[in-house]
Parts: sequence; structure tokens; C-alpha cells
Amino acid sequence: MKRKETQSIRTQTERTNFGEHATPIYMTSSYVFDNAEHMRAMFAGEEDGNVYSRYSNPTVDEFINKMAMLEGAEAGWATASGMAAVFSTFAALLDAGDEVLASRSVFGSTHKLFTQIFPKWNIETNYVSATDLDEWEDAITPETKILYLETPSNPALDIIDLEKAGEIAKKHDLIYVVDNCFTTPIIQNPIEFGADLVIHSATKYIDGQGRGLGGAIVGKQELIDEVEAFARHSGPCLSPFNAWMLSKSLETLQIRMERHSQTALEIAQRLQDHDQVEWVKYPFLESHPAYEIAKKQMAMGGGIVTFGIKGGLEAGRNFLDSIKMLSLTANLGDSRTIATHPASTTHSKLSEEERAKVGITQGLIRLSVGLEHIEDIWEDVDQAL
Ligand SMILES: *Cc1c(COP(=O)(O)O)cnc(C)c1O
Repeated sequence: MKRKETQSIRTQTERTNFGEHATPIYMTSSYVFDNAEHMRAMFAGEEDGNVYSRYSNPTVDEFINKMAMLEGAEAGWATASGMAAVFSTFAALLDAGDEVLASRSVFGSTHKLFTQIFPKWNIETNYVSATDLDEWEDAITPETKILYLETPSNPALDIIDLEKAGEIAKKHDLIYVVDNCFTTPIIQNPIEFGADLVIHSATKYIDGQGRGLGGAIVGKQELIDEVEAFARHSGPCLSPFNAWMLSKSLETLQIRMERHSQTALEIAQRLQDHDQVEWVKYPFLESHPAYEIAKKQMAMGGGIVTFGIKGGLEAGRNFLDSIKMLSLTANLGDSRTIATHPASTTHSKLSEEERAKVGITQGLIRLSVGLEHIEDIWEDVDQAL
């Protein structure tokens, strides 16, 4: 089972004696023991098995085993949301006084953790440019412990060279952590480029149908052991129901990512030729400033396209108001195409200057290209423009 399509379909928790084909949802909080000695051995960790569903659950195991396999990781831990994965990783690995080095454009709630929550425990974050890796080495201090990044960045779609970032992390003995939510393990495997841990919000493409939340952390066994030691007792565990849903979703992830990417590239090309459009950014467009790096580390371009409308803020708002079919929602990675205007919504609290720093111009529109027929998507985008 070397190939991802097969791994995501055939990795399965052992069948019960009912002979079921699909894995059941093991909705149980706890597990029974054979006798006092068995119970003692399980609690002492001398025997493998399930004790309590905050620690492990057969349905959750299936999901996380698939995720680890798809990322080429030694081990993994599943969480209730992407943010539970982000938080558990930092909380498990950092001590008071440690520092994080992070690319400037990280997910909004991750930014809140860095700037408002972690400082309470004397953990500070140094932000560096997503496009200028020379800045990174200068920003490393003796306290820096984790190097953290997202690529492509949201919503600017800047591409960070995963291999180069990995070399910096190695040289300075930093734990290298990548949030790989945007591309999924189908498109990009940061571990190949030296990442120690990879984080996912399974809420996005992995579910892919906008139904539920989930998250995953996969990577080196010794680091996952630390995450587990934290998570077992702090309780960010994934529910068996959501694990079942996400595990089933993984079975179609490969073909969904192929279609998302194919349609997104075509939409990006059409936007480039549109007279109301100032610029278009998509990793697999040759006009992307980091096209060569994208081609090196990504198997496909992914489902997100950003573009700038002529006319700035007002034109961006008008575009959203003129949309007929596409969904106006903050989510991404859904089978339904989604349009957002970050300058007036998700990033409205930033000043124009701060927005410019993370690549968000006034007229920037982000499309999360779904699985509808391309001509229906295009008709709506075109009439709204
Ligand atoms: C959505 C998202 C998260 C957070 O995931 P939730 O499942 O919403 O908690 C983290 N990182 C990135 C890049 C995301 O897009």
C-alpha cells in the first residue's frame, strides 16, 4: 500500500465478528477489562489497547493512521479541530521563556494564540516575511525553539520554500512545524522537506463538504509522544463520529483535490484574461513569483485562487453583493465554491498597512474553488465582475 489512493481507502481498523465492510463508529467513552490483572496492566501501560476515549478510540485510530500514512509520518494524534491541533502542539513542546519563529501570514486564530494567549505564559513569537528567507536566520535567538509556517499562505498565496526553511531549522536545531491545511497530504508532504511535525485542520478539504470540525498532528514519534502526554490530560480529542466522517472523506480526497486543482487553474487562467481583473495569484500560474518553488514542492496547484478587482475596496464589496450561486462564507475547502473579501471581513481589523504586509490589497477576492461544473462557477464569477 504505497500509493496514497490505496492508503486512504484500505487503511482500516480491524473488523469485528459482524463482518462489516465499513468501519463502525465506536461511540464509547470507555472500555471493559477482562479482570483485575488486565486492568492493572492496561493502566500501567504494559499492554496495548483502549482504556478511555480521551486517550484512544478505534474509529479515531483509523483516521489518524491514515493521516500519518498519507504524510509519510511515524505517528499522529487527532484533535477536535485544527486549532486544537495548533494549540496542543505549542502547549506540549514549549516552556515559559521559549520563542517561536513564524512566517507573518498565519491563520487568524493562530495569530491570536501567538499575540494574545501565549504571551501570558511568557512565550513570544517573532514574525518574519513569507517571501524573504534571509530574514529568518537573523530573527533566530537562543530562545527560539519552533520554526512555524504555512504555505501557500492565506489569503495571499505566498509560497515558502519548504526545503530551505528546513535547512534553517536543522542548522539552528529548531523543531520544524508546518500547517499543511491548504494543500492536504495529497498535494504536499512537508516531511519530505525536513518538517518534524505537520498540522492539519481536517475541517477544510479533508472533510471537504463543510460538515464538521477536526484536526491532526503527525510527525516524529518522540514529538507526538510529547503531544500525546499533553493532550491525554487536557482533552482536545476528536469525537468518534467526526473521526468516522473524516476517515470516509479521506477515501475521496485524491480525486477531489485533482478536480479542485484542475478547475481552479482554469478559473485562474480565465481571470487573468478578464478586463475587470488587475492581477491573479495561483501557485501553478507561471506568473506566480514562486512558480518554480511551487512546482518543486506541490503535486497540484490546489483549490484556492486570489485575484484583485479593479476599483479596490468598493469593487470587492460589490463583487460579493453581485454573486448569485457561490457561497459567501469564511470557510474554505468545500465542494461548494466560496468567495470572500478579506479586507472587509476576516482582516478588517488590521490597518491598511498591516494588511499590505501580509499581501492583502483592498480589492483582493479569495475563491475557494469547489467541485461544481466549471461553467457554472465561471458564469457566476463573470457576471459578478
Ligand atoms: C481553518 C484553519 C485552521 C483552524 O482549523 P479549525 O478546524 O477551524 O480549528 C488552522 N490553520 C489553517 C491554515 C486553517 O485554514
